[in-house]
Amino acid sequence: MARGKIKVQSANIFPIIKKFLYSDHEIFLRELVSNAVDATTKLKALADRDALKGDIGEPIIEVKVDAKNKTLHVIDQGIGMTAEEVKKYINEVAFSGAAEFVNQYKSQGNQTLIGHFGLGFYSAFMVADKVEIQTKSYRDEPAAHWSCDGTTEYNLKKGVKTERGTEVVLHIDEENAEFLQADKIRELLNKYSRFVPVPIKFGSREETVKEGVEEKKIKVDNIINNPRPAWTQAPKDLTDKDYVKFYRELYPMQLEKPLFWIHLNVDYPFKLTGVLYFPKIKNQLQLAKDKIQLYQNQVFVTDNVEGIAADFLSLMRGVIDSPDVPLNVSRSYLQADSAVKKISGYITRKVADKLHEIFKNKREELEKKWSNIKLIIEYGMLTEDKFFEKVKGFALYPNVRGQHFTLAEFTDKIRDAQTDKDGKLIYLYAADQDAQYSYIESAQAKGYDVLLLDSPLTAHFVQKLEADTKNISFVRVDADLIDKLIQKEETAVSKLSEKEREKLKSLIVENTSEKALDIQLEALDSDANPFVITIPEFMRRMKEMSQTGTGISGMENRSESYKLIVNTNSSFAAQILKTEAEEKRKALINQALDLAKLAQNLLKGEALTQFIKRSFKMI
Ligand code: ADP
Repeated sequence: MARGKIKVQSANIFPIIKKFLYSDHEIFLRELVSNAVDATTKLKALADRDALKGDIGEPIIEVKVDAKNKTLHVIDQGIGMTAEEVKKYINEVAFSGAAEFVNQYKSQGNQTLIGHFGLGFYSAFMVADKVEIQTKSYRDEPAAHWSCDGTTEYNLKKGVKTERGTEVVLHIDEENAEFLQADKIRELLNKYSRFVPVPIKFGSREETVKEGVEEKKIKVDNIINNPRPAWTQAPKDLTDKDYVKFYRELYPMQLEKPLFWIHLNVDYPFKLTGVLYFPKIKNQLQLAKDKIQLYQNQVFVTDNVEGIAADFLSLMRGVIDSPDVPLNVSRSYLQADSAVKKISGYITRKVADKLHEIFKNKREELEKKWSNIKLIIEYGMLTEDKFFEKVKGFALYPNVRGQHFTLAEFTDKIRDAQTDKDGKLIYLYAADQDAQYSYIESAQAKGYDVLLLDSPLTAHFVQKLEADTKNISFVRVDADLIDKLIQKEETAVSKLSEKEREKLKSLIVENTSEKALDIQLEALDSDANPFVITIPEFMRRMKEMSQTGTGISGMENRSESYKLIVNTNSSFAAQILKTEAEEKRKALINQALDLAKLAQNLLKGEALTQFIKRSFKMI
């Protein structure tokens, strides 16, 4: 039997471990299970090198709650420790590790640390007032029993353990009684240790087996983890089904199937594995609850990968596992770390490569799923220049007829018809096929092709495309009259004299209640609509940008600013001028204005009711 004092350089670290790290109490279990995994892995490595006598069997780890005695047990069948090793590893190595961790934690203030790795064995004292270790080495040496009650005194004596391995016994203190609840422990094992490489037993369950004709119930170990998750296997050994199954395992609440996935696997200059999934996203920038999870050697670290993976990947799901991500550092440090930058760049590149491969080999499939993944891609193209350069050649653009083009293909298709008199190539787009139906129709009547760009990032995205290529411009079909959007040489002849035009304008101004109405007279085809409302591209884009949190702020609350275009060649214009009765003229003008608004979906509430009443009167 030996008593000893743990060497203390500075102040006693136990009170600090207990108090200072209060918020992270639960990580003790992850640390103890990870130690048990390490001990088992080391044993397997020895067995593989034939450095061990006998068969090691299939070692597992067991976690056990003893509520009556208020203890929690973590038991492994790993290499175990001799008394000498306990002295060295627990009293010195583990202690100095914990002291170093606490110092680092102190110096970083309360900044978020990723994962808080490194506290190790001594994190047990966050939840226990006494910790015991019963251990027996794989070497032919007596078992050892260590105990410590959270002071710097420890007790080391001969142990009673007869089987190889280590059992850590935590006498859970009153404040942390929750860790004696089986549900709580199951939850933590699920969160942190769901994919560790050694089976973890937590309780038993009944299984029905057939014995001849009879069915019998037997008790079997309840293994709660998957020791061989998809990302640790070789892609060639996995089927599509396996990837989908793993997705469901990661996100049991996700009913939708993932659309595509990418298996990451790199050895140099850093180690990284993982599987990333493109989930089905519709048109909202949803704050994903199911996020990418970061693991270190199959131990869960965090689901906040900010700084490790590019921002746009936060819309994806899956797992990244890397032993090379420095975990004990603050986020700002992490973002500046060169290894982390390389990792982030690598993942981005892999995502682009995978998309390119799908484009080359399964373009149809990409087209089908495009509307569900385009948000991620547009977001990536907007925020990562390298991604933009890699993807711009094969990013897809659907038109309102449902055909998909690359930008180059589409450009070839429209170049002749949609180049304006100044040689500028105009891309027309719609954001909503139904709402902008009449505008799409008039564009198509001219032989133009209209793209369908309906993501919340469209305003930013077209801005980016315009900046990337000289002499092109994107305009939404309802931004102006089609002849104004793509201006050609020919000038239209006006049927009205200058005087009549002025009179027409003042009649409209006098007869509507909209004081600030922006009116523009145009000599158009006589059978084109007499009144048309357009929403100028620039203002609308600014407004949309501020809605997604960028652009000029404050714009999002401004009402839609629009312009009324009056076709002076329409017979309706002539009718207004001819109508003498004031009441009738007023009704005509307002009716036409409302119809134009209706075509733009701008007529709502009281105005809509008024319109309907007036219309009934007229028929
Ligand atoms: P780390 O695991 O980071 O080295 P710990 O404080 O968790 O730090 O553990 C210190 C050392 O104690 C380990 O490196 C290992 O040698 C030994 N150890 C801890 N737990 C076990 C265990 N279950 N079986 C065998 N050795 C262990």
